[in-house]
Amino acid sequence: MTPKQTIHKYESNMYRVFLILIYIIYLPTFLVAQQKETYIKAGLFYDSQQNVLLKNKIIYVKGTRIVSIGDFNSLPNDKYVIDLSEYTVLPGLIDAHTHVLFSQDADADFSEHSIQSLTMETDALRVLRGAKRAKSYLDVGITSIKDLGNSGLFLDVALRDAINEGTIEGPRIFASGPIIAATGGQIYGVAPKHQSIIDLEYRIIKSVEDAKIAVREHINQNVDLIKIAADNLPNNTRLSIDEIESIVKTAHSYGLTVTAHTVSNQSAWDAIKAGVNGIEHGFNIADSTLALMAKNKIFLVPTENSRAYMNIYANLAGLEKDNLGWIDKYIDTLKNRLANVISKGIPIVAGSDNYTNIGVSAGKSSQDMFRAYFEAGMKPLDILQAATYTSALHLNKENEIGVLKPEAYADIIAIKGDLNTDFVKSVESIVFVMKDGEVYYQQSN
Ligand SMILES: [Zn+2]
Repeated sequence: MTPKQTIHKYESNMYRVFLILIYIIYLPTFLVAQQKETYIKAGLFYDSQQNVLLKNKIIYVKGTRIVSIGDFNSLPNDKYVIDLSEYTVLPGLIDAHTHVLFSQDADADFSEHSIQSLTMETDALRVLRGAKRAKSYLDVGITSIKDLGNSGLFLDVALRDAINEGTIEGPRIFASGPIIAATGGQIYGVAPKHQSIIDLEYRIIKSVEDAKIAVREHINQNVDLIKIAADNLPNNTRLSIDEIESIVKTAHSYGLTVTAHTVSNQSAWDAIKAGVNGIEHGFNIADSTLALMAKNKIFLVPTENSRAYMNIYANLAGLEKDNLGWIDKYIDTLKNRLANVISKGIPIVAGSDNYTNIGVSAGKSSQDMFRAYFEAGMKPLDILQAATYTSALHLNKENEIGVLKPEAYADIIAIKGDLNTDFVKSVESIVFVMKDGEVYYQQSN
């Protein structure tokens, strides 16, 4: 390079720096000017924090966030308005227990299907299938999901990132990464020489120290929360209190919450004693354990199904029609437990855990949780709160999602019908879905 060329190069570089500076100085004003403004007229407005329905509200949305909530008379002239005055407007719903990277037929065995998926379904295919399932949640107004493992080696995190960067459409995903579990995980019946295959789906820990390392590995992969299997039933292994404590302490030190899958009362008790933030399922749970949950303000995600769902499931699974008394027993148990949980003041978070293919989309299948809770005696607004504000609290995101207030994300949906007199039908009648300030679906009149 000659000196002359160097001077010329220097000058053109200076010009480039000048242009970049101008760009940096004016970029913020440019961005603000570009942000879309929308006013939403809500005939009925669900205040999820207070758990009440209010009338005639205006939601002012700018960019991806809510700016303010006002009355109808706060609507400025000549602004773009979405008129939902005939409907009930709610924060986008949250399903706090999903497995979008896993789906099995009703007559399939969970363990066999897991092995099949790990050996015969490539990660690429698994993620593409998961992406379709994830998107179906938006169709039913579920704008956030807490996805709890059975998702290979952090495929849930990849799916979340692809959605967040706008590569594909889908709900907000709060991803746990592989479930942290004791020997064997939940995949029962695997011969000793093939046990290593389980490491592709679970993070099997070997000691208190290893428990700590497992959490660090998860944090290194940018998970949003930690999910443990406190027990592995029907696999007869479980985490010790010391191991769970090590997981909880490490996760909390990084600002992450821990939620525990429990089937037995013993594992629920151990998990709560060790300091977890939430219990998933809690199918068997003694009064003394519930009292401890209430005292420590531990969230419960009861993942049950309605009678209608169970009938479809039994039919698809090929179970004998005249031998379905267990469904009555299941429904009764659910009803009694939920009443017990409510009476003790334990915060309830809505979660479906519907990974069985019952012939409808994953999102549609998730809606069954609303019916199940309703049939078990929960009141309509309490169910909505369990699927919005309380769920956001459980995720430590109560100022961002599950709520319609200034600075929260503009995840806003509307439903048709009367929530008080026709709850199940109206919560399933989605007429409008907005996520991040973008309209995803709007029913044409
Ligand atoms: Zn689950």
